[in-house]
Amino acid sequence: MIKPDGVQRGYMGEIISRFEKKGMVCKGLKTFMTPREVAEEHYKDLSSKPFFGDLCDYICSGPVVCMVWEGPGVVKSARLMIGATNPLESAPGTIRGDLAVEVGRNVIHGSDSVESAEREIALWFGGDDELLDYEMCIKPWVREE
Ligand code: UDP
Ligand code: MG
Repeated sequence: MIKPDGVQRGYMGEIISRFEKKGMVCKGLKTFMTPREVAEEHYKDLSSKPFFGDLCDYICSGPVVCMVWEGPGVVKSARLMIGATNPLESAPGTIRGDLAVEVGRNVIHGSDSVESAEREIALWFGGDDELLDYEMCIKPWVREE
């Protein structure tokens, strides 16, 4: 998910392009103004942290772009492309490493496990009618089989 700072700074195209170029397939994408209760549910594992309130304010502060990307090992691969939580520790070449300097303005969220991804897709998307089942015509040029 592209966070509100990523949208406001004009990085939607840049971020989407990185996943496209990698060879991942976009199965869902939408802009969304996050209700407070969705932000709190999304980050419920962090509800005891001192930054939880500011984090939910940040996520609700403007439109986000919710995305579902498919590909081999996509959760781990996307996390590597996104980089470490603190952008000052994210490697150059990663999204956060290239585009951000603060942990509280780190431009993008990525699911940390397949289980989290399933939970987050169910939370942010309104069901299977918002997700697409299709193949890219370039698939044989990206995937060996
Ligand atoms: N965050 C923060 N301060 C911290 C740690 C995290 O503001 O000290 C925010 C940051 O935006 C981060 C989000 O909380 O992306 C979720 O934290 P998590 O540890 O799950 O990091 P992520 O999975 O996003 O790398
Ligand atoms: Mg996380």
